[in-house]
Amino acid sequence: MTDPARPRVAVCGISLEASTFSPALTTAAMLSPRRGREVLDAWDFWREGGSLTDRAEWIGVLQARNIAGGAIPAEDYAALKAEILAGLVAATSEAPLDGLVLDIHGAASVVGLDDMEGDLALAVRAVVGADCLISSGMDLHGNVSHTLAATVDLLTTYRTAPHVDWQETKERAARNLLDRLALPRGRRRPAKAWVPVPILLPGEMTSTRQEPATSLYARVPEIEALDGILDAGIWIGYPWADEPRNCAVVMVVGDDAELARTEAAALAGELWARREEFGFVAPTGSFEEVLAAAVESPAAPYFVSDSGDNPTAGGAGDVTWTLAELLASPALAASGKRAIYASVPDAAGALAAQEAGVGADVRLRVGARVDDRPAPPVELSGRVVAVVPGEDNLEVVVRTPHVDVVVTRRRRPYHLESDFTRLGLDPRRADIVVVKIGYLEPELFDMAADWMLALTPGGVDQDLARLGHRRVRRPMFPLDDVSGVDPLAGAALFPGDTTG
Ligand SMILES: [Zn+2]
Repeated sequence: MTDPARPRVAVCGISLEASTFSPALTTAAMLSPRRGREVLDAWDFWREGGSLTDRAEWIGVLQARNIAGGAIPAEDYAALKAEILAGLVAATSEAPLDGLVLDIHGAASVVGLDDMEGDLALAVRAVVGADCLISSGMDLHGNVSHTLAATVDLLTTYRTAPHVDWQETKERAARNLLDRLALPRGRRRPAKAWVPVPILLPGEMTSTRQEPATSLYARVPEIEALDGILDAGIWIGYPWADEPRNCAVVMVVGDDAELARTEAAALAGELWARREEFGFVAPTGSFEEVLAAAVESPAAPYFVSDSGDNPTAGGAGDVTWTLAELLASPALAASGKRAIYASVPDAAGALAAQEAGVGADVRLRVGARVDDRPAPPVELSGRVVAVVPGEDNLEVVVRTPHVDVVVTRRRRPYHLESDFTRLGLDPRRADIVVVKIGYLEPELFDMAADWMLALTPGGVDQDLARLGHRRVRRPMFPLDDVSGVDPLAGAALFPGDTTG
């Protein structure tokens, strides 16, 4: 019998945001699986001396994670899943598990399989048994299928985008689980109201920095604070995968099933009623239009989001289309302005520049190794001005007549000022900074004197209609005419231990 003050809780999962419109694949190795103690060391709250460390016997099994990318090959997923299940079998052979934290993002894809998270949750449940409470703290760009909603007992999600509350959310998922495990058996499992809402929008239209998301998400803690309610969430969903589950979801969990149901329906109704108000977080245009605006603007630094290949949303990251346009732009050349471009991954190009060394003139062909659909590899002639080897990457800067181009050995995001200054680049003093990103992350947003989002091609194209979804539920806003659609038609209520 487990000590009720110190329940046994396993931690496992696979976190990825995967575009099915990208030819890229995310292998098991790219997901850098952590095992055992390393799983716990990844989070402050249950590592040595953390806020929740002493409240449970934490058992790290396997947690695999990558920012975003393409789908996971079927055999790689099978291997990770088998290892997770074997770890849970071993853990349960000593004593039953009281709880399990399923650490997932919610928008992973596996080649040939829909709903990875639902599949993993079912498999995990089969090992840990019906008594074990399962909790997940997810990304609001994740998906909650009917299967996932039915199988996981406690679901919560981020309440901000950009996700400044990501650690807080992961901690809340763990704390909610511990709080419920402190209740007597037979009173632990809350009811769950689940409402899939037929809306499919990119994150760049649903940032909580702007309406209507600001006020919709402000409703979440209000609902959570109600008597009989434990948690509430809006998963705005992931639009760059073509699976039947892809859409927005509202969930409310709590012991008062009827209140959970009415609050979830009300919040889903508000989301639906305000769907037309979602708009891009910044002015948008074709790259030509956006670059023309940047060149003409007196504001500096002027940031341009190269959004169609955003690696943190699932783009391959090595699409060269925008860089080729930038290097060849007569408007930029005539303006006398200089631009920074971050970044294009190309292992051979980065290594060749490193070998040539700082000060050398090089001629490279870079990018389009993974995603060459929009454009072929781009010719890059200039001087190597920085070579920065890292633990698992290599970054170089090639200075061309009008653009400083960051070339990396591996795909990586540029979200922080230090990501640039480490390379000897000063984005504050640049005229124009073009970044593969969607909405600007906080440091870049604060630094930008002005910015525009360029609707460039790639695996995470912001122009969803260009992608051609075939398998999502229809009709779907904004792809279809949704007049006459009942947004609550798919709602379900999963009862808890105590209904009422
Ligand atoms: Zn997200």
